[in-house]
Amino acid sequence: MNKTPGATLRVRNLSKNYGDGPVLDRLSFEVPAGETLAVIGPSGCGKSTLLLLLANLETPSTGTVLHGESPLPVPGAGSGDTAVILQDYGLFPWKTVEDNLTLPLRLRGAPTAERRERGAAMLAELGLAGLERRYPAQLSGGQRQRVAIGRALITEPDVLLMDEPFSSLDALTRERLQRVVLDLWRRRRPTCVLVTHNVEEAVFLGRHILALGGKPARQRLWLENPCFGETDCRKESRRFSLMRQVRAALAAREDADSETGSGSGPEGSGGGRTASRAGNDTPRQDMEEDAPCAG
Ligand code: ADP
Ligand code: MG
Repeated sequence: MNKTPGATLRVRNLSKNYGDGPVLDRLSFEVPAGETLAVIGPSGCGKSTLLLLLANLETPSTGTVLHGESPLPVPGAGSGDTAVILQDYGLFPWKTVEDNLTLPLRLRGAPTAERRERGAAMLAELGLAGLERRYPAQLSGGQRQRVAIGRALITEPDVLLMDEPFSSLDALTRERLQRVVLDLWRRRRPTCVLVTHNVEEAVFLGRHILALGGKPARQRLWLENPCFGETDCRKESRRFSLMRQVRAALAAREDADSETGSGSGPEGSGGGRTASRAGNDTPRQDMEEDAPCAG
């Protein structure tokens, strides 16, 4: 398999207007190769739109998304270097677990023996061994989600884009799968963008965190996350203070947006810069708030 070397994902001055008004306003940030970014924001703020733009499945109104020097290949277009997990998992109900999982290999012309072998390895890795002949309707939500994750990872993509992949799962399954994804990421190191509306999830899985807010959505906060992947309960207070910071950014008033322009600007990928004076505002209560120790 020809794999291109990892490259930085560069977003410059990215805006999207669907026709009935702007949705995203001049986003600029970078995700270094092999790192993860969690994008967080309230429902309807444009997170899925951003993910589709990153995946080259939507066209920007202004600005660019580059992987190294070129746009990302459209997922499924043959190269297999980008994988996307959409919000509804996107499994084919008439295909078995094994066929769903190995579909990307089939699309790339991999021989049956290779598909079987890599499919079995991925099923084992995800704790799905024994379920290969089942259909999606015969699986639990968590099992379906694991198949979707496995299907995204089976080609060992350079870039993995995930849209709220854990949002419909119960808390325990979600935590388990978050760790599965973190483990897989640690072993394969794709450049990863995770969309979420869950602050705790963003802090657990985002090496970088981007908070979006306002209409149109702008960058409210960009930070490098010292608590990324952390499961040590003794460091709870550091994690809670970070979560407070993210919640405050999400709660920042509209007028804070207009005072600070379009967030962290074209060079906004630097570490630890905030895009608003969010710290003085009251955190909103409507973001998910289950905060058990992940360890
Ligand atoms: P989120 O994922 O944060 O919930 P979305 O990106 O799905 O937000 O949607 C952001 C806004 O863009 C919403 O107002 C939504 O109605 C609108 N929108 C999303 N997709 C389209 C589309 N294809 N055509 C027109 N408007 C859209
Ligand atoms: Mg969405």
